Amino acid sequence: MKPIRLLVVHCSATPANRDLGVAEIRAMHKKQGWRDVGYHYVIRRNGVVEKGRPDNVIGAHVAGHNDGSLGICLVGGVKPDMTAETNFTPAQYDALRTLLQELTGRYPAARVCGHRDLSPDRNGDGKVTKGEWVKDCPTFDVEPWWAANKGRQA
Ligand SMILES: [Zn+2]
Repeated sequence: MKPIRLLVVHCSATPANRDLGVAEIRAMHKKQGWRDVGYHYVIRRNGVVEKGRPDNVIGAHVAGHNDGSLGICLVGGVKPDMTAETNFTPAQYDALRTLLQELTGRYPAARVCGHRDLSPDRNGDGKVTKGEWVKDCPTFDVEPWWAANKGRQA
């Protein structure tokens, strides 16, 4: 694994009423032939953070950027009809903030972003914009959220 330069926020793309954690996601990922859960951290609906892959093992969470990144998955992110919805709980946002504070302390060079922000910049303007997103994940703009929240204390 290269030095960590990206902390990538994801969602599980499951409805808000599904309370799953790392065990269930690991089972889903193994079923698709992976050797372990793709993420390094999973944040359950109640805000409990569960450990996935060890930080020194390359994850499977974002095409082209797995080496040198850690994947953090918020459980939720879709409506019952499976279309995107930003439906995370206050406890999940608190846990995400605390986890990212810890991880940016450990990896000060790392950029915090959302999965969709790593979509290809197809028109080459230096910005990844809505029309270029490969998927909606994690359904909200992580970078401005982090800028506004990283200084907050629990
Ligand atoms: Zn994702």
